[in-house]
Amino acid sequence: MAQELAGKVAIITGGASGIGRATVELFVKEGAKVVLADIDATQGEALAAQLGTSVRFKRCDVGDATQIQELVEFAISTFGGLHIMFNNAGISGAMHARFLDDDLKDFQKVIGINLYGSMIGAQCAARHMSKNGGGVIINNASIAGILAGQALITYRTSKAALIHFSKSIAIDLAEYGIRVICLAPGHIRTPLTSFAPPGTSPEVAERVKKAVGDVFDSNQPLKRQGSPEDVANAVLFIASDKAAQITGIVMPIDGGITTGDPVNH
Ligand code: NAD
Repeated sequence: MAQELAGKVAIITGGASGIGRATVELFVKEGAKVVLADIDATQGEALAAQLGTSVRFKRCDVGDATQIQELVEFAISTFGGLHIMFNNAGISGAMHARFLDDDLKDFQKVIGINLYGSMIGAQCAARHMSKNGGGVIINNASIAGILAGQALITYRTSKAALIHFSKSIAIDLAEYGIRVICLAPGHIRTPLTSFAPPGTSPEVAERVKKAVGDVFDSNQPLKRQGSPEDVANAVLFIASDKAAQITGIVMPIDGGITTGDPVNH
């Protein structure tokens, strides 16, 4: 069978874990050359070594504009171009903090990585793509950017802004053949949603996982928690030429959570 991404070069930020990792693995299988970018060099280098010459690791903190610019230049000089930019790296911020407990440092960190990191990534990629026949920019928001709630307020705010940013640049960049899609994953089982900080005993971690999993499962029409592979499959389609007519959308991958009233799910 033909590979969906043969001849394409992609950058995937936050590629060492969770959704990013599953996407790196799938993209390589589908013939892409991938620059795996992450702040975690140990995990990132190990994964790149495991996947072979189609993948190169580049350490990058997406909270730093200079490092993002260098990342894009690295992809172009290493693999000869850039067709797909997946701005995926993100952090939740303090999991259980209430708004009154947050401070300016928390706001700046979460907004800096989740929103500015994706904006700068999109701009650096678009500057190249606009002069080289177009491309695809995929930003990873969240259903937390669609649904308001008491917890994770700065996270929700960063993702809501990322959704609006994505729609706006989809219009602005369309004339260059650049498509922009924003993902809104639901509850995906990754380290981000383990809710068990380092040092938690295995018994407690298991209990928390089960409790969280149960809540997630019963809260969505499809009654199963999504996997990183579920999201990677959606990213593959959106990044491929099969999605050539799709831009400016927000794509929930959430088992139906955002369809309506959770009481009736
Ligand atoms: P994860 O924690 O498994 O992976 C995140 C990766 O990003 C890690 O490898 C981490 O080292 C890297 N990273 C963190 N800060 C970074 C920085 N400053 N620069 C570069 N890399 C950095 O998390 P995940 O669940 O796979 O999340 C990936 C994206 O998906 C995030 O943007 C997250 O907000 C979004 N998302 C996740 C879920 C979910 O339920 N897991 C739901 C909706 C949206």
